[in-house]
Amino acid sequence: MSDRTQTVNIIGAGLAGCEAALYLSAAGVRVRLFECKPIEKSPAHSSDGFAELVCSNSLKSDLLSTASGLLKSELRYLGCRLISVADSVKVPAGSALAVDREKFSEAVTDLIKQSDNIEIVHETVTDWDEDEYTIIATGPLTLSGLSQSIFEKFGEGLHFYDAAAPIVDGASIDYSKAFTADRYGRGEGDYVNCPMDKSEYEDFIRALVSAECVILKNFEKSDVFEGCMPVEIMAKRGADTLRFGPLRPVGFSDAAGKRPYAVVQLRRENTEGESYNIVGFQTNLKFKEQERVFRMIPALRNAEFLRYGVMHRNTFINAPLTINRHFQTLKYPKTFIAGQLSGVEGYVESIMSGLVSAMCVAALIKDRPLPEFPLTTVVGALTKYLETPNADFQPMNANFGLLPPPDAKIRDKNAKKLFLSEKSLKDLKNADF
Ligand SMILES: Cc1cc2nc3c(=O)[nH]c(=O)nc-3n(C[C@H](O)[C@H](O)[C@H](O)COP(=O)(O)OP(=O)(O)OC[C@H]3O[C@@H](n4cnc5c(N)ncnc54)[C@H](O)[C@@H]3O)c2cc1C
Repeated sequence: MSDRTQTVNIIGAGLAGCEAALYLSAAGVRVRLFECKPIEKSPAHSSDGFAELVCSNSLKSDLLSTASGLLKSELRYLGCRLISVADSVKVPAGSALAVDREKFSEAVTDLIKQSDNIEIVHETVTDWDEDEYTIIATGPLTLSGLSQSIFEKFGEGLHFYDAAAPIVDGASIDYSKAFTADRYGRGEGDYVNCPMDKSEYEDFIRALVSAECVILKNFEKSDVFEGCMPVEIMAKRGADTLRFGPLRPVGFSDAAGKRPYAVVQLRRENTEGESYNIVGFQTNLKFKEQERVFRMIPALRNAEFLRYGVMHRNTFINAPLTINRHFQTLKYPKTFIAGQLSGVEGYVESIMSGLVSAMCVAALIKDRPLPEFPLTTVVGALTKYLETPNADFQPMNANFGLLPPPDAKIRDKNAKKLFLSEKSLKDLKNADF
């Protein structure tokens, strides 16, 4: 039975929490929004305002030939409040949507404060009542009391740092320089192998050890690398370290029957083989450096990066074990987890999760069916990614590799992306919410 008088608790007035609060408020649902600032702040937050952009002021490209541009278009169509605020405070940044971060935060904070349906509670939350509708949106630096409760309630599935290898577009691999096989012929040929000869390997190692890395924040230094070493640090231990580690060639022979000097393995990210993870390549290199250095692997010389490797402090749940595509936890139907904590990666993706989780909570309260987003949209595909079983779950940003490929082959990369974007927006407009 519906209960229209319910109050929804939202924990965290960041990007996801503010979007969720504004959606629910406009839908006539009362919200209690908990925010620890200014009493307490994470090491990355510095202002007292809501919806603080902690690092870059860019919400990435606005072009429909990019997945991030498409996601923003989908969100505009869905009436997303924070993207609308971003559009109103944008600063010149070419084809990207960059904003004046102070004006952005001020405008969102004002909207929240002006809403009669939103009660603001400044408090560091350490636990929540599973019998009340709650959206937990406390972000990648969730304060410890609450992360402890999440850990206790959902078991092992909470991670405190992200060590992800890059993902490349399957269509951009040069298969004339790769071969499909499993080590010692065991398995069903699931890996694409990128062999290197001695001089290619040595050039690659030289570039890798001298490439520029992201500078870690002080609070990240202590816990980021525990248990998982970046590929560039491994390479610094000795020229052959990678050849005896993730790039070992044993158990393989190339088309001529010869064992390669080193082999980089690519593992499928999705069943269609549209995207591939570079095995063992968790890295802290700057994004441009990842492109430059990893494209020295002959089969990856034209590789298109769908997600870059990252290593940073990041609290996130093991989404496939914890939530469904509606951001609703499997264990407690009234508890939702949104934002970066849910396993999406990025500002715009976090905003999206706030919107979708709020749409779902509102639907439940109003006894309506939960919204189902077409899988041809970034919203639909990314939320589906979160609930799809994945033994090695890592947070994900918007990328075209998540979308089903066009039925007919489109050779031109840009044309293919524009085709996918057009289809997505058309399907979204035809969807029934
Ligand atoms: C250092 C860093 C840099 C990043 N840079 C970028 C970038 O440049 N571009 C990009 O796209 N993404 C970036 N991200 C990733 C991510 O997009 C952002 O962190 C984004 O802000 C996540 O949105 P969110 O709503 O999930 O969390 P947040 O925006 O962080 O909001 C969470 C809110 O919850 C509050 N909170 C936390 N714990 C509690 C508690 N127990 N009780 C009450 N309130 C609490 C916090 O104060 C905060 O206001 C970065 C992440 C980090 C950690």
